[in-house]
Amino acid sequence: MEEKLVEVKKLLAHPKKIVITSHRNPDGDAMGSSLGLQLFLDQFGHDTTVVLPSDYPDFVAWMKGSERILIHDDTPQEADKKLKAADIIFVLDYNGLDRVDKMGEVIGALTDTTKIMIDHHLYPDDFCDFTFSDTSASSTCEMIYDFIIGLEEQEKLTIPLGECLYSGILTDTGSFKYSTSSKLFRVVAGLKDMGVDDTELQNLLFNSLPEKNLRLLGYCLNNCMEILPEYKTGIISLTKEDYEHFDIQRGDTEGIVNYLLMMKEIKLAAFITEQPTIVKISLRSKGDFSVQEIAKRHFRGGGHKNASGGASFKGLRSTINKFKRVLPDYKEALNQL
Ligand code: 5GP
Ligand code: MN
Repeated sequence: MEEKLVEVKKLLAHPKKIVITSHRNPDGDAMGSSLGLQLFLDQFGHDTTVVLPSDYPDFVAWMKGSERILIHDDTPQEADKKLKAADIIFVLDYNGLDRVDKMGEVIGALTDTTKIMIDHHLYPDDFCDFTFSDTSASSTCEMIYDFIIGLEEQEKLTIPLGECLYSGILTDTGSFKYSTSSKLFRVVAGLKDMGVDDTELQNLLFNSLPEKNLRLLGYCLNNCMEILPEYKTGIISLTKEDYEHFDIQRGDTEGIVNYLLMMKEIKLAAFITEQPTIVKISLRSKGDFSVQEIAKRHFRGGGHKNASGGASFKGLRSTINKFKRVLPDYKEALNQL
C-alpha cells in the first residue's frame, strides 16, 4: 500500500469527526463522491457530515444521504461550526479554496485540522495534508473507488455507495463519451458486478426531466445559438429574462453546452449565462485544445483540458464580447484541430 494511504488508513482506524466538502453548484460527481465517501466512512463509526457551499440540483436528490447535507448558503453558522469541530476535512472534486467561496476562508484558517484532497482537476493548490490528485481520472468518483480499494476495504462497497460513484462517473464522462480509460471500464465492471443497476441510474439522472427543460433546450438551440465558423466556435447565451421565462432552477442548464460540440466543425463551445450577481461561463472543447487555459487566464476559473468554467463580473453582453475578443489568439490552434 502506498505510504500516504497507510497513514490515512491509520487516521481512519478510530472514530473521528469528519466533514466532507465539495464545490459550489455541486454536480453529479461532487454529490456522488461526497455521499459515496460518507457511506464508506459511516461504516467505521465516524461522525460524518457533508457540507456544500450551495444547494444541489434535483437530478441528484435521490442519492442516499442527500437530505442530511448541510448547505453553507442556507445555514452558515451550523456549517462553520461543523467545519471548525472536525478532526478531518475531505476536499472532494475541487482543488482550490476559491471554489468553495466563504467556506474557503474557514477551511484555510483551520491549520490544526487534517485535510485530505481527492480530486481530478488540473493544478491542485497546496493546502492539504494529503493530496490525492489524478488528472487522468474520469471523475472524483472513480478516485473514491480507487481510494476504497487502495485501503483494502472493498467489502465496504455497498450498492447505495456504488450507485453514488457510478452516477459521478456517468455524469462527468457524459455517459462514457469522454475522459474514459481501460481502467475506468474495469472500475465500472466492478461496480456492475456488485449489483449497481446502470440502466436505472441512466433513467434517474438523464431521463427524469420536466417538460420545461426540453422546451428550454429547444429554445437555446433555435434562438440563442451563435456560430463563429472562422474560430470553429459555438456560443449559447441566456439572459436574466430567459431565466425568469423558463423558470430555470439549479441544474436545469446542465449539459446544454455539449450540444454545440455535436457539430462536426465545432471545436470550442461556450455557454454563457446571466446569473443574479455574476455571468457564468462554461467551456468545452474537442481534442488537444485546452479550455482550462482560457478559463484561467480570462475568466478567473479553471477545470480540465476539455471542460472548464469561470465567471465574469461584467454584464452578459460584455462577457460575450470579451470571449469573442479572446478568440483570435486561439484561431490558429483551433483551425489545426
Ligand atoms: P461546468 O462548465 O460544468 O460548470 O464545469 C466544468 C468544469 O470546470 C468542472 O470540472 C468544474 O469543476 C470546473 N469549473 C466550473 N466553473 C469553475 C470556476 O469558476 N472555477 C474553477 N476553478 N473551475 C470551474
Ligand atoms: Mn468531477
